[in-house]
Amino acid sequence: MGGPHTITLIEGDGIGPEVTGAAVEVIGAAGVDIHWEKTLVGAAAMRELGTLLPQAALTSIRKNRVALKGPITTPLGEGYPSINVKLRKDLGLFACVRPVKSIPGLKSLYDDVDLVVIRENTEDLYAGKEHEVVPGVIESLKIITREASLRIAQFAFQYAQRHGRKKISVFHKANIMKLSDGLFLECCEEVASRYPEIEYTELIVDNACALLVTRPQQFDMLLMENLYGDIISDLCAGLVGGIGVVPGANIGDECVVFEAVHGSWPQGAGKNIANPMGLILSAVLMLDQLGEEAAARRIEKALTAVIREGKVLTRDLGGSVSTTEFTREIIGHLD
Ligand code: NAD
Repeated sequence: MGGPHTITLIEGDGIGPEVTGAAVEVIGAAGVDIHWEKTLVGAAAMRELGTLLPQAALTSIRKNRVALKGPITTPLGEGYPSINVKLRKDLGLFACVRPVKSIPGLKSLYDDVDLVVIRENTEDLYAGKEHEVVPGVIESLKIITREASLRIAQFAFQYAQRHGRKKISVFHKANIMKLSDGLFLECCEEVASRYPEIEYTELIVDNACALLVTRPQQFDMLLMENLYGDIISDLCAGLVGGIGVVPGANIGDECVVFEAVHGSWPQGAGKNIANPMGLILSAVLMLDQLGEEAAARRIEKALTAVIREGKVLTRDLGGSVSTTEFTREIIGHLD
């Protein structure tokens, strides 16, 4: 086993401290030598430092190159922009990777889903560039560039090669957004032509949603722009047990921030009821990247055993135990 590793830890808002706490505890119990460099982002940073995204957090992530992050709240409507979007932009985390895999024993719509959603993370409508043209008329800008589209397509095909994936499906709406989605498709096609061994398909996003819900097994890797990727990855999470159970990583050339798919669930905060699986599985992805594969597999195995036994589960999984009890049960199953 390697280490010690220094990793930036952002607990986040709402249920963030509870689920990151669970992940840290499980990793510790698995014996991985990690020094957690805690840094504040979000509401806690605002309270203590007067800013939502302190420079110190960015500096810590750039230095350590790896972070584990809880969710950050973004209030609806007027107010501050999304700190998640800003963090990804400032750190150049251009690729969001969300593996969506059925977990044996977990009650869900399907038990044989194995997908990876790759989402472009830096542009599209998601950049939040909006303004009021005249009262009652809002313009929201969808930015798609050749540079970012080629970069994410290249990333996706390299990922497919590295992970033995056979097929990439791009979801788009180029029939309506002929220029923006048209450019995205053009870039994907250009990259796809260099990987003839990987099957490449294009689907209009609305039809693709219907196919995903009815027969998700036909898909392998999904590649899309930012907004479609945001929505589709939650849809995919719903196929395998809900947004509480799916992990993710935001990847750039310099650093990686691992975080679950779910948000800060403010109504669940402080109640010790959140499911920490999404964060724990994000931490498993992190351990793989750190070269701690043995510990990653042990944690995965323990978690799967707890789910398969089906006796000690959080409420979202049909059980009644707390975050803490569920976490202890996983630790108890580490071999
Ligand atoms: P959410 O994911 O926080 O919660 C939606 C619902 O999912 C909850 O009501 C709950 O029933 C369930 N849920 C979510 N996480 C769960 C868990 N760990 N265990 C059990 N059930 C869970 O989504 P939302 O309500 O749309 O967003 C709340 C806030 O989180 C918003 O401010 C949003 O902007 C933010 N958000 C942050 C991130 C991030 O930091 N990466 C991602 C998504 C949303």
